[in-house]
Amino acid sequence: MRKTTAIYPGSFDPLTNGHLDIIERSAKLFDEVIVAILVNLDKEPLFTVEERVSMTRAILNHRFPNVRVDIFDGLLVEYAIKQQAQVIVRGIRAVSDYEYELQMALMNRRLESRLETVFMMAAEAYSYLSSRLVREVFKLGGSVDGLVPALVEEKLKEKIQKK
Ligand code: ADP
Repeated sequence: MRKTTAIYPGSFDPLTNGHLDIIERSAKLFDEVIVAILVNLDKEPLFTVEERVSMTRAILNHRFPNVRVDIFDGLLVEYAIKQQAQVIVRGIRAVSDYEYELQMALMNRRLESRLETVFMMAAEAYSYLSSRLVREVFKLGGSVDGLVPALVEEKLKEKIQKK
C-alpha cells in the first residue's frame, strides 16, 4: 500500500499545546508527519528557527515515532512535493481562521493539484490558543502554564531574562 505523508507547516514560534494536539491527531491518521518550520515568515521572531527546531524536536522526540521536524522556506507546495507528501495539514480554531485558510488551501491547490489540504480541530480547550497570544501574555508576565509544553515555558523564561 502507498505510504501517506503529511506536512504540518507553521511558524511554531513557539510550539503550543494546540499544535501538539494537531500533531498527535495527524500522527494517528498518516503514516508519516513532517512538522515543517517556516523560515523568515516573521522578520522578528521570538525564537530563531534553530531554537524552534531544537525545542520542537526535543518535545516530539520518542513521543511520536512517525513524526519528524524539518525547516522550509519558499513555496510550501514545492517543499511538499520534494518530500513526496500528499497532504498538507492545517489547524482550524475559530471561524476567523477559516477565510485565510480557505484562500491558502485553494491557492495551494491551484499551484499543485496533487496535494490535498486537510483541516483539523484541536481540543476545544485550545481553541483560543495561538503562539502570538502566548508570546504576548508571557512578555507581560502572565502565566502560560498548561498552554505550552514545559520545555517551551522554560525557554520562554530564559528568553525574557536575557532581555
Ligand atoms: P499560530 O501563531 O497561529 O499558532 P502557526 O503558523 O505556528 O500559527 O500555526 C500552524 C498551524 O497550526 C496553523 O494551521 C494554525 O491554524 C494551527 N494552529 C495553531 N494553534 C492552533 C490551535 N490552538 N488549535 C488548532 N490549530 C492551531
